Amino acid sequence: MSQKPDNTFFIKQTTPSRTSSISRTSRTSRASRASRKKNYPPTMESITKIYKDGFGPSSSHTMGPHKAASMFKEKNPHAAKFRVTLYGSLAATGKGHLTDQAIIAASSPIPVEIVWRPDIVPQFHTNGMLYEALDPDGNVTDNWTIYSIGGGNLANEQTQSDNKEVYQFSHISEVLDYIEKEGLNYWEYVEQCEGKEIWDYLARMWQIMQDTIEEGLHTDGVIQGGLKLRSKARQYFVRASSFKPSLQSRALVIAYALATSERNATGGHIVTAPTCGSAGVLPAVLYHLKKNHLFSEKSILKAMATAGLFANVIKTQASISGAEVGCQGEVGSACVMAAVAANQLFGGSPQQIEYAAEMAMEHNLGLTCDPMCGLVQIPCIERNAMAALRALDINIYAMMSDGKHLISFDKVVRTMNLTGKDLPSLYKETAQGGLALLTEEEN
Ligand code: SF4
Repeated sequence: MSQKPDNTFFIKQTTPSRTSSISRTSRTSRASRASRKKNYPPTMESITKIYKDGFGPSSSHTMGPHKAASMFKEKNPHAAKFRVTLYGSLAATGKGHLTDQAIIAASSPIPVEIVWRPDIVPQFHTNGMLYEALDPDGNVTDNWTIYSIGGGNLANEQTQSDNKEVYQFSHISEVLDYIEKEGLNYWEYVEQCEGKEIWDYLARMWQIMQDTIEEGLHTDGVIQGGLKLRSKARQYFVRASSFKPSLQSRALVIAYALATSERNATGGHIVTAPTCGSAGVLPAVLYHLKKNHLFSEKSILKAMATAGLFANVIKTQASISGAEVGCQGEVGSACVMAAVAANQLFGGSPQQIEYAAEMAMEHNLGLTCDPMCGLVQIPCIERNAMAALRALDINIYAMMSDGKHLISFDKVVRTMNLTGKDLPSLYKETAQGGLALLTEEEN
């Protein structure tokens, strides 16, 4: 894992200007066109990389750096000190996302010096990290450049070739052709590729998801970070419980989504689906369907398998990282997962499920990532609730259709990727544009 730091990995970030939107757009477009092609090859790993339990608030900015620091400490247990340089989006919003605290906790008891370099954006992925081990004289004895590529996953030029491919197809159109020929469902294809052990894994993740919702529904207080936001899940749950059934059902979905997202914002235990910031959407929909429609645990796990498959395609063909493609890759993907899961639970055909997925991504295209103060709170917490409601509406729309539609899911994923690359860096977790500016103006 040791690797000499190579400055060719890095390009200087152009400081975003807010004075000229025209020059900003053209500059960003040039840069993004050049980087449209992903630097790591498409492989379809296990869906266990989509569902990972860990601590919030951010899979890319907290979970990934924590994992990298743990790995580096394991390799250098006798270092006198670590120096960790954070680049790009990690450096721009790392303080709000508790990146430094995650690294310090994972490196303990070895002291850590954090160097923040938001002005340098690595070419491989914006969330770059350089780990250096130092001896008592301050000499570097080991170093490792690694990137947190979203969903808590790590990669660099070396590890990309070690990715274990579990699936033979990485497009939904290929999967659809295959399962139609074989008479299978999506979840059966997942079982074929992953093995029967996937069900125990998903059952464990589903249990954590439910525990997180229940904990969130009984938590009160101010969410840490400085915005002084009060958690709302408990209050909403109490109010929703007294509503008439017609209104109660949807109101409870909001409370369930808030419960997970608020736990995430406070660094609580959550399951990525597919990221920490978007972890509230799928569990809210599944929990609601379990409570209201009495779907069995087995059906829920099968829905999670199919949802994981669709998210895996997005991760492989585009990105699930807000720093790379904006929130369309996080909450957009989570909305896809929830819509797909709901549609399968209600008996949707493979074509209807694919349609639900396509709609869920299409209607989240262009969604930016610009949280206030770099905290995964505004708009993130509410956005999870909105996406959960939207996923349920999409399910109804797809169920009323015959599954035929013009734009395929694969095409909309490609569009999402291009849209994400074309988004100015201001709107990709850099805390330099959009809602993030409200803090500057008002404080
Ligand atoms: S705006 Fe979306 S992508 Fe950005 S931190 Fe919030 S949830 Fe994640």
